[in-house]
Amino acid sequence: MSIKIQAGTLSKKLKKLFNPGAGIHPEYCKQESLQRPVTRMQSTPAVDLILPLQQHMGNKPDVLVRPGDYVYKGQPLAAAKGDVSVPIHASSSGTIIAIEERPIPHPSGLNDMCIILRPDGKQDCGDSSMAAIVDYRQADEETLRTRICEAGIVGLGGAVFPAAIKLNVRPGIPIDTLVINGAECEPYITCDDMLMRDKADEIIAGAQIMLHILKSHAPEGQKQQCLIGIEDNKPAAIAAMRKAVANSGDQCLKVIAVPTVYPAGGEKQLIQTLTGKEVPSGHRPADIGVICHNVATSRAIYRAVVLGEPLISRYVTVTGAGVQQPQNIEVDFGTPIAALIEYAGGYTEQALQLVMGGPMMGVSLTNDMIPVVKATNCVLVQPAVKEQAALPCIRCGKCAEACPADLLPQQLYWHARAKDYEKAEAYKLFDCIECGCCAYVCPSHIPLVDYYRFAKSEVRAAKVAKQKAELARKRHDFHVERLERAKRERAERLAKHKKKAVSGDKKDAIQAALERAKAKKAKAAEAKAQTEAAPDNTQGIVKEDSAS
Ligand code: SF4
Ligand code: SF4
Repeated sequence: MSIKIQAGTLSKKLKKLFNPGAGIHPEYCKQESLQRPVTRMQSTPAVDLILPLQQHMGNKPDVLVRPGDYVYKGQPLAAAKGDVSVPIHASSSGTIIAIEERPIPHPSGLNDMCIILRPDGKQDCGDSSMAAIVDYRQADEETLRTRICEAGIVGLGGAVFPAAIKLNVRPGIPIDTLVINGAECEPYITCDDMLMRDKADEIIAGAQIMLHILKSHAPEGQKQQCLIGIEDNKPAAIAAMRKAVANSGDQCLKVIAVPTVYPAGGEKQLIQTLTGKEVPSGHRPADIGVICHNVATSRAIYRAVVLGEPLISRYVTVTGAGVQQPQNIEVDFGTPIAALIEYAGGYTEQALQLVMGGPMMGVSLTNDMIPVVKATNCVLVQPAVKEQAALPCIRCGKCAEACPADLLPQQLYWHARAKDYEKAEAYKLFDCIECGCCAYVCPSHIPLVDYYRFAKSEVRAAKVAKQKAELARKRHDFHVERLERAKRERAERLAKHKKKAVSGDKKDAIQAALERAKAKKAKAAEAKAQTEAAPDNTQGIVKEDSAS
């Protein structure tokens, strides 16, 4: 199904396209994967599921199972640890056969801890399901946020930040707009397009749940709105979403077609396009009254709340000249990419490069036994890309013109290359969304984004090292202070004791002196008494003398 977008629709609805003139128009190559309907690939005992513990931003969850345990589909396998974390659930019923390090989809190419689950093919949910909150309007926001966290929901647009935290806005912060991101601007990727065509009602229901959670943040005297931004190269998705909005009867929801330009789907870029408001450097959308979630996240929220389903699968685009039958597949997390490609008819002779994500922001994968995770929106199999040798920068300024974040990529490049990270930060290194527009237009073929990524990782590592050093210094200071306090207290105790001893000696001396004086007095009194008691011989003699 396709619709014709009415002339004038865009100009009336759009506030301001991000940084006009910025962005690029690469070859989109989306049609290949839109030719087939979406199918559900079920897990089978023949293919083990590999579930990395770290599939989201934040803390790694704590493992709840051991090898040999039987688990039901949807059962939590690892529990959220700390505030920024989500649990991991079993994508299928079956047996845990190992908990060990395996390669994960990450630019580092390193291994990480994974739970290996052998499916039994029964899809048995047992009694592990969460209770459905059918009438979510009767539930308070905390209950709904807890459910979203318990269901393991993260941003499915690629950021994989826990969704419940994004919806937990600090008290007193007004939120006037919920943005639902259906722009999907990266070439080749069509999973959100197909999701909007197939599950528009569920996406809209998820958006309504989010509005319910955010309703206490409505600015005084103002109604909240929900703007759903979709690039105008997806007419079928726009039509399906508009129909779902009409079915909901909810006046605050609006579907807005945005111009097709890469990267229209960047969070800050879409917010600016839809609302006219710019998220300042170093701030979050909530600071300007906006919360933004991807369409797939919205659908997952609906299913978690109203149906009690945890997040265990997603739509994934499998495409590129290296795949026999490009298409979108709903696939369980943990499924190895090799099995997914086989499901899509296998590799073609041109298959040489494997990428998770699109050609602009994707991560190159080293092998196809890496699993589908929550962040996997696309598996792109391409022929070998001819690497062009980088030439010196000619200061043409094309990179700055293309940058949607209004940065100076050339200066960022110089400072990143010179490892002068302080200056790179001063040029807003961390505002770079790694969209790759600058590298795309650079006539010298400089891999600019690689420099920025490396610089960011170095700055982050230095910050972590500084924090650790600071912590170690504080611990050392505390230890020294404790020792000194103990020494001080001991000295005080000793002094007190001595004082007591000295005053005791003095008392003894006084007592002895008193006793001596008393004894002397007593002796004197005794001597006097004896003197008085003795016979008066002198008187007797006188008497005898007078008688004679
Ligand atoms: S586009 Fe490339 S060559 Fe031109 S200024 Fe930027 S980095 Fe230099
Ligand atoms: S990768 Fe960064 S610097 Fe380059 S265009 Fe995108 S946002 Fe700008």
